[in-house]
Amino acid sequence: MAKIAILGGGESGVGAALLAQSKGFEVFLSDSGILKDEYQLTLTNNNIPFESGQHTLSKILDANEIIISPGIPEKADIVKEIKKLNISLVSEIEFASRYTSAKIIAITGSNGKTTTTLLTYHLLKEAGLKVGLAGNIGQSFAKQVLDNQMDYFVIEISSFQLDRCFKFKPDVSILLNITPDHLDRYEYKFENYIQSKLRIFQNASDESQNIIWEDDEVLISHKNQLPSKNLQTISFKNKNATAFIQDQQIEYSGNWSLNKKDSPIKGPHNAINLSAAILAAQAVGISREQILKALPTFINAEHRLEPCGIWNGVEFINDSKATNVDAVFYALNSFEKGIILIIGGVDKGNDYSVLDNLVKKRVKGIVCLGTDNEKLIAHFGPKISTIISTTSLKEAVETSAKWAIEGDTILLSPACASFDLFKNYEDRGKQFKETVKNFIHAQN
Ligand code: ADP
Repeated sequence: MAKIAILGGGESGVGAALLAQSKGFEVFLSDSGILKDEYQLTLTNNNIPFESGQHTLSKILDANEIIISPGIPEKADIVKEIKKLNISLVSEIEFASRYTSAKIIAITGSNGKTTTTLLTYHLLKEAGLKVGLAGNIGQSFAKQVLDNQMDYFVIEISSFQLDRCFKFKPDVSILLNITPDHLDRYEYKFENYIQSKLRIFQNASDESQNIIWEDDEVLISHKNQLPSKNLQTISFKNKNATAFIQDQQIEYSGNWSLNKKDSPIKGPHNAINLSAAILAAQAVGISREQILKALPTFINAEHRLEPCGIWNGVEFINDSKATNVDAVFYALNSFEKGIILIIGGVDKGNDYSVLDNLVKKRVKGIVCLGTDNEKLIAHFGPKISTIISTTSLKEAVETSAKWAIEGDTILLSPACASFDLFKNYEDRGKQFKETVKNFIHAQN
């Protein structure tokens, strides 16, 4: 019996184990950390042998093929050993895609993957298709392939998963943008990361549909690596693009346009994400009417420019997921002037000057919240008169509210990691929403 070893016992590894077992492989799963109880139980109940806290080389290297979880870096010792023996090493996405004939929409990019994936999924689901949501979100692709219920999959794909995809061939591929990220996993060479992202197109054929944001600088400089056929483009500049984003509306080829007011997600970056999702939905045959009907009921994932309260005409926005300066740039671009920005946390070597122009034009006050307030004050202090250092969310919200008048926006968009005052960005966002709720309640 052919043997499969799986490295990593999280959602994707355990899903891959179940699928591999059902396909008749002898499976062994190995995780150098501790498996969650629910995953241990699943493996035990299905008689799948596993180990945690170590990698037993002999058992792993005995396999005919190895499925690797995205969290394990190429420079890990275990990967070096596997490479020495030339054993096939694939991602869960690559492995599971062999066992489904469902149509696949795959979405990658440095920013906007989750938003675009969720919206594409929503459009397909509302159109009545049997569609699964997979990749970095929710249940693993492998587990859903095993359940065999879906005609379509919308999959969010990271560069780590793409690194170990070889024959994976999405019917529709979306590449949103490429900016430096995860460079520690790519020998600190941006080009390596770029090549990883471009792998989404590596098996594009005449039938594949491909969607890109064509204004992206990296995609412009790597034009020769983009598919030449069936390339649908999104642009702010090119009126011949498949989706041409203008001030008030987005024009789609086929001669229809969408008023930006009807978009459930705000800001210029989200116009790209929205257009990518719409083009993907159209590529699998969903009509404009179905799309327009589904848009108003879309709710984005938490912590991404999420409206979370209105008080005296002042809107509170939770953008806790904005953990880098780039994301804050897009957040500030999404609201008119009259923004009170709550920013700060653990600084990651940020260069705040990217925000200077937008701060000047749109921000009326800055509330710093975190361990690295001093750096923020030193940078923005000379540029804006209303700036303060705070030490708790309660203080930050109350101060912002004091400064705000009707029509203003209080925006939590930290640009920093959250580990000083919070467990993670989700915890920061949840606590912000709770604090806003309590504040509004106390005022009424
Ligand atoms: P990802 O899954 O790729 O991390 P998300 O959809 O979760 O992306 O968005 C993360 C953050 O990235 C958002 O808070 C937003 O500020 C920013 N963002 C979203 N879409 C884009 C885009 N198309 N271009 C640039 N930044 C974006």
